[in-house]
Amino acid sequence: DTIASARGLTKVYGAGDTQVRALDGVDVDLARGELTAVMGPSGSGKSTLMHCLAGLDSPTAGSVVVDGVEISRMNQRQLTKLRRTRIGFVFQAYNLVPTLTAAENIRLPLDIARRPVDHERFDAVVRAVGLQDRLHHRPSELSGGQQQRVACARALIAEPSVVFADEPTGNLDSRSAAEVLSFLRRSVDDLGHSVVMVTHEPMAAAYAHRVLFLADGRLEAQLLAPDEAAVL
Ligand code: ADP
Ligand code: ADP
Repeated sequence: DTIASARGLTKVYGAGDTQVRALDGVDVDLARGELTAVMGPSGSGKSTLMHCLAGLDSPTAGSVVVDGVEISRMNQRQLTKLRRTRIGFVFQAYNLVPTLTAAENIRLPLDIARRPVDHERFDAVVRAVGLQDRLHHRPSELSGGQQQRVACARALIAEPSVVFADEPTGNLDSRSAAEVLSFLRRSVDDLGHSVVMVTHEPMAAAYAHRVLFLADGRLEAQLLAPDEAAVL
């Protein structure tokens, strides 16, 4: 069961002499209910791959299917709707609303969609992320790791089909990074989410079910964690 897949995914930026082939015919299948890490050197195409899979960017060629829907030919309006309803995002810089408390930031996607807050689920997500004692704090009163855990909870609260995280630990010390990675892993194992993260963090490989390695716009290797490998 795949949550996102690409066939012949190609992205070319620019034109003529300044043309850059950021992705060059990538075929990939991401399994539902996994934490996938996308790794590789700077400039290898990680962000471009994530942006194409998340409907933030349109491929030059190839197809992308997310949660059973072909998105590579969608127009901007359809892509915006897809991102709002099916995809959760986590960014390196947290991107929390500074004037809202942690609790208000977490429930924001539900408020925007005018959906009621399911308090049982809200409490489960808050417990999983370990923020019970910080709910009434504003972002400026939280550590970087706590802010990123608020951002992770916000990405999950509306039960998106898949969460994409772009360098989620990029601004964090290794202890806070481990807390965020550990939460992302638990959100998959305990809450049943599917998460794809782009990361430079070497530690991330130990938390992921699957690691994709990109080099020069190509999928160079794919590793499964030992326990998953044994099942296959
Ligand atoms: P990574 O995330 O692995 O660092 P990127 O996907 O950001 O790699 O970039 C892949 C290649 O595409 C790089 O050569 C980068 O310079 C180029 N690139 C990325 N975005 C753009 C853009 N908007 N315009 C032109 N070139 C870009
Ligand atoms: P970076 O660390 O690369 O500056 P950003 O946090 O600015 O990362 O965002 C990464 C990418 O996600 C950007 O290319 C941006 O276009 C996109 N993005 C940022 N905020 C949103 C949002 N609220 N919804 C959808 N896409 C977003």
